[in-house]
Amino acid sequence: MATTGASPQFIFHNANVITVDPKFRKARAVAIAGNRIAEVGADEEVLKRAGPDTQLVDLHGKTVVPGFIDAHVHAIHVGVSLLPGYVQFNDCRSIGDMLAAIARKAESTPRGEWIQGSGHFDFDLIQEGRFPNRWELDRAVPNHPFFMRIRGHLGVANSKALEVLGVTKNSPVPAGGYVFKDERGELTGLMLDNAVYDLAMPKLPRTTREEWLSAIRLMNQRFLREGITSAVNQSGETLSYLQELKERGELGTRWQANHQGSSNYFHRPVEDIAKAVRDLGAVTGQGDAWLRAGAIGELHSDGLIEAPWMHEPYAQDQFGPNWKGLLRHDRETLRAICLAAADRGFQMEVHASGDAAMEMVLDIYEEVNRQVSVRDRRWLVTHGGILPTPRSVERARNLGIIVSTQQPVLWTQSHYYKQFWGEKAVANVFANRTWLEGGVLINGSSDVGISPLLGIYMYVTRKNFFGEALGPEQAISREEAIKLFTIYGAYSTFEERLKGSIEAGKLADLAVLSDDPLTVPEEKIKEIQVLMTVVDGKIAYEKSGSATTKP
Ligand SMILES: [Zn+2]
Ligand SMILES: [Zn+2]
Repeated sequence: MATTGASPQFIFHNANVITVDPKFRKARAVAIAGNRIAEVGADEEVLKRAGPDTQLVDLHGKTVVPGFIDAHVHAIHVGVSLLPGYVQFNDCRSIGDMLAAIARKAESTPRGEWIQGSGHFDFDLIQEGRFPNRWELDRAVPNHPFFMRIRGHLGVANSKALEVLGVTKNSPVPAGGYVFKDERGELTGLMLDNAVYDLAMPKLPRTTREEWLSAIRLMNQRFLREGITSAVNQSGETLSYLQELKERGELGTRWQANHQGSSNYFHRPVEDIAKAVRDLGAVTGQGDAWLRAGAIGELHSDGLIEAPWMHEPYAQDQFGPNWKGLLRHDRETLRAICLAAADRGFQMEVHASGDAAMEMVLDIYEEVNRQVSVRDRRWLVTHGGILPTPRSVERARNLGIIVSTQQPVLWTQSHYYKQFWGEKAVANVFANRTWLEGGVLINGSSDVGISPLLGIYMYVTRKNFFGEALGPEQAISREEAIKLFTIYGAYSTFEERLKGSIEAGKLADLAVLSDDPLTVPEEKIKEIQVLMTVVDGKIAYEKSGSATTKP
């Protein structure tokens, strides 16, 4: 295999290297010089390059993969909600446990101050299969306004919070939003999508600069532990915070910072949209390999779990008859944003959860493409609706669209999904095999920061936490699943020549794994440990006790 000229600081040898090169070749050794991979090949061949300062690392047959890429993750928002100021529900198994955790927080919080809950926990492990309502919350926190956002789409408030927010049962519900009421017409405290944005967000405490920075640091550490060397952050003008940490040399992983999607365009007249897009500044690709300006995204066309925009009315009647979900922006607005993005050279990343939303986004991308070609822009559709029709697959392929799928979120959320989608739709969500076989690239991502190895296991098995296979006919091969989290992720950010595989000349980003995801028994893929993560030619993480670099 090819080489470059510099003298290496590391040679990892006696290893099982999954290069993810175009032929998906295996190798035994990797030499790293500076921040680049200098050589990949057989032990004897690569070891010849060792100089006096080269550190030789015998990996005793351990597996090396390209550093993982999480191509769609709301990392910084997730990081904020994992900070100690937020109530965490990871250990909760019932509504009672959740309320107890909130009550404990209330004891140490001055009366009247906001308490916020983290929406990142294992929904399906809560035995009631739902979230607490306003009256239950009132028992735990009568004197503090309490709010939590769940997956960015659902909001849950207690009575005090509704009072502070000024939301009553008579408040007008914004288009693209929904407010839940009980049979007496009383607010339950749960609200969806644009109702969260309009009724709650403007009055919730603002995240401080220190919190944003802490969140990035927290997620950086988490990523490195999971072998993730690049992440594409969604939704939020976080570029300046990332830039600040980059200047201090504290950016542990590579980031693409996408521009704020939905909330930048709510209530904006269509005629003002082109200017709003112009004002975004850094166009997709500006920056460097550590920090790039990204797409406009994610931009929401519809709801997510509770309110995807569907062709057919929902089977359940919890929203009333003929309910087909929520459209977050009208079609004109979406088209105007996409057209302005095409004009300015931005990549687009539009969320489409329901089948009707997916068709609408494809329509809009096609309409825009008739005015400004977007075929080489690698525009993305996130989630990708449900099972696409052959016609949708063809349209996506013709437009060069990448579908970003998040199989890992179903790990402990699939039962919750089923309440809204039904069994059949949940089996067909993330139709990974259909897309790939139809010639449409998909990337691997987690939305919320779940381990890529668990992700690979789920793309390969379609199983959830309970061992239930959801639509096993949509399973993909182990090779493809590894590509999703490496080279296809790199392709999504136009960086496939720079990273995503272990080839001479590429950035030295890799992960050392305890076992080989290509050969371990399928059930063991999820147990594979990350022993070491190398970013930019430096060891950025080493699992304690693994002693990989010790002689
Ligand atoms: Zn989404
Ligand atoms: Zn997302």
